[in-house]
Amino acid sequence: MNHENDPIPVSNSSQELIEAASNYYIPNYHPSPIVLSHGKGARIWDTNQKEYIDLGAGISVTNLGHADPELIVAMVQQAEKLWHTSNLYHTEPAILLAQELVQATFANRVFFANSGAEANEAAIKLARKYMSRNYSYEKSEIITFSGSFHGRTMATIAATAQPKYQEGFQPLPGGFTYCEFNNFLAAEKCISPKTCAVMVEPIQGEGGLTPAKEGFLLHLQQLCRQHNALLIIDEVQSGMGRTGKLFAYEWENGINPDIVSIAKALGGGIPIGAVLASEKIAHGFQPGDHGSTFGGNPIATAVARVVLEKIVSPELMAHVRKQGKFLMTCLETINQEKTIFQEIRGKGLMIGAEFAPHYQGKASEIREQCLQKGVLLLQAGPNVLRFLPPLTIEDEELHLGLERVQSALETL
Ligand code: PLP
Repeated sequence: MNHENDPIPVSNSSQELIEAASNYYIPNYHPSPIVLSHGKGARIWDTNQKEYIDLGAGISVTNLGHADPELIVAMVQQAEKLWHTSNLYHTEPAILLAQELVQATFANRVFFANSGAEANEAAIKLARKYMSRNYSYEKSEIITFSGSFHGRTMATIAATAQPKYQEGFQPLPGGFTYCEFNNFLAAEKCISPKTCAVMVEPIQGEGGLTPAKEGFLLHLQQLCRQHNALLIIDEVQSGMGRTGKLFAYEWENGINPDIVSIAKALGGGIPIGAVLASEKIAHGFQPGDHGSTFGGNPIATAVARVVLEKIVSPELMAHVRKQGKFLMTCLETINQEKTIFQEIRGKGLMIGAEFAPHYQGKASEIREQCLQKGVLLLQAGPNVLRFLPPLTIEDEELHLGLERVQSALETL
């Protein structure tokens, strides 16, 4: 079709841009009616120069805040050298990032992808291939949990045990068994000799900001060991320092996963994902079994090296725990004046506040109010406000952001 005569936005007014978005995008998103232009730290501005405190970090991506000078240097230096080669050749940043991820984690080997869904897709394929090589094709069932979220590709919506993400996309890839989250007995009943892997988020993000109960991950690990199944931990949202440790599963003692998927904050805002695997499991893949044209892109990996170096700093992790406690205490104080929330939960700077029965369904209304008052906030379903600020958020920004959230909550 010829688009020559289509109207082209002649000015950059936000209203015109928003209108153009509604005309030209496939309508799968429902963005807030603002156009964001630039950011610094935990502050971000729209094209009308209105300032917002960012308490969502682009859904746990800009963990080091906006426009971190060291990330900019890493990106620009690499951009001046080499942008892309494909995986037909080696590049230094990808190799060094793989080495640094191995040094910082349980893993012995790494596969690079471009997003969380792709990392999970690769994790599922790796687990299945490992089992088909070492046991049998029949050992292929993957157990996932109610309330989970693992991405939007066909295999990852099949893994995501929530009908709303699957509706209308059937037929879905088979071989996924859904089990009730945090139900110890149900997990025992779900697992069998046919189980290839159990895939779990240590804190469910999209599904309502629900942490695994104490002992649940360990229980799953024991069940996996008994049935020669693999433990896959999805740290796409909860990882990269979000909870005050590099990975959220580290809050539970004795967990040794077989595979961990990461993405989001690994690139600090540049798309990248990764699968981390133990030596034994990594050999499930042989040359040609899996691949990605952009995986391990030199710019993305050059930036991610700096992200990783900054995130593993004990000072930053201590800061996350301190700011997380402060955020939690503020929400509890707000709640003491008037019971708005029935539960405030989470770890570090991954916190959810679930509305009390009287205020059920109010999350999007409050998110909208927050926007007007100058805060970017997330929800996790209709009943939970989700706080995922940059890990580097300073006292002043956090105080100001929470003041604005409080004033939005006063509209209830
Ligand atoms: N896994 C978890 C736990 C997530 O929270 C998400 C995204 O929100 C994904 C996977 C999918 O990541 P992406 O949107 O980068 O594909």
